[in-house]
Amino acid sequence: MKLFQTEHRRALRAFYGEGHAAFSTLLESLAGTLEAEVAPSSARFDADSGGISSARRRLFEAGLCRMPFDSHGGLSLPFGVYSLAMELVGAADAPTAMSLGIHNTVADGVFRYGSESQKKEVFEDLVSGKRLASFSLTEPSSGSDARAMSTTATKTGSSYRITGTKTFITNAGEADVYFVVARSEKGHSAFLVDGSAPGLSVGADIPKLGMRGSRTAEVRMDGCSVPAENLVGEDGRAFEYVKSMLSGSRIVMGSICVGIALAAYRKALHYATERKLFEKKLSDMQMTRERVADMRAGINSSRSMCLYASRIKETGEDYGSEAAQAKIIATETASRVCDQAIQLFGGYGYTNADVHRHWRDARLLTIGEGASEVLRLIVASMELGGAA
Ligand SMILES: Cc1cc2nc3c(=O)[nH]c(=O)nc-3n(C[C@H](O)[C@H](O)[C@H](O)COP(=O)(O)OP(=O)(O)OC[C@H]3O[C@@H](n4cnc5c(N)ncnc54)[C@H](O)[C@@H]3O)c2cc1C
Repeated sequence: MKLFQTEHRRALRAFYGEGHAAFSTLLESLAGTLEAEVAPSSARFDADSGGISSARRRLFEAGLCRMPFDSHGGLSLPFGVYSLAMELVGAADAPTAMSLGIHNTVADGVFRYGSESQKKEVFEDLVSGKRLASFSLTEPSSGSDARAMSTTATKTGSSYRITGTKTFITNAGEADVYFVVARSEKGHSAFLVDGSAPGLSVGADIPKLGMRGSRTAEVRMDGCSVPAENLVGEDGRAFEYVKSMLSGSRIVMGSICVGIALAAYRKALHYATERKLFEKKLSDMQMTRERVADMRAGINSSRSMCLYASRIKETGEDYGSEAAQAKIIATETASRVCDQAIQLFGGYGYTNADVHRHWRDARLLTIGEGASEVLRLIVASMELGGAA
């Protein structure tokens, strides 16, 4: 199935006016790569933790990770174009999209807060795909309440010693660079920790409901020595950086969910036109038509919200609330649309992994990168004041 369709061209025209044609050509070409080299393997990736590495490599070569950055090898594309690109990747294979989305969250952090030498030595390697990154914030006893973390970074001369355990870390074991947040004397600080640093070890793969092609594991640091120049930005300011990095990432995770929903929707639509019951096509039944209309409206409103949040980000204004809204709407819609797709397929939806994997993949994203409850608190605090 063609991943880039008229609906994408129309969305680009609606949000980018005259500039849309060049963006359409670019995304159509990316979609061609995804159709040829990623989507055909997505069922296999669903059964193979870490199986996405060749797909990820191909997308690095296609320049996906360079898109939203405007120097050091970036392609200077609007964030909304990058978010639509991530929608296409999500439609082709969600674990590949998530792995690269999180990788690029780290690239964004290094780009905006890193030193000039980190930009040259690390950022350029990240966007070219020479090195893979992992974002290490969550701990066994602190997820949504990330500030309650126990990992510590103690300064000793010209280095820091980091001790603690991070869990549920995407790309763990494959990453060359870990963006680690730890408690320091001045508050919380962020570090770039080399994957081969002495004292860093990675646990076994954590089995998951969905997103199985990407790897998830614990990252343990036992007195891991990190040179002081690997501190990102200023000591004590990590949460300020992480908050801003996660806002962009939330638009991306929302866009990935639009892609997941679209993939399930298109399969369901096709099935509904083929399946016959009570001497009718499933697609001719009134309740099916109502279901299809709701699925389509949900997908379009999710995409519009992701593009709207992207456009605000592009202006330089604060977009944290819109990013949170986009993620709430897109992730919750994707779970609903994928559930409706299973219902349309009947028993075949429940038993065919190629249908139910979309629901399993989408299910993560109302939890990770800001659970829906946390995001609602962010939106409410913008509307009503008070703490998020
Ligand atoms: C497959 C996978 C990949 C992941 N990848 C990464 C990664 O790469 N890097 C990383 O750092 N982390 C990663 N995570 C961790 C993810 O970000 C956390 O799971 C998430 O932040 C939630 O934390 P928690 O699981 O500890 O749940 P908790 O924070 O303990 O939440 C428990 C429940 O409370 C709800 N809740 C939260 N706040 C409130 C509130 N104010 N009121 C009421 N209820 C609330 C939550 O939604 C949830 O239902 C990943 C997780 C998974 C499963």
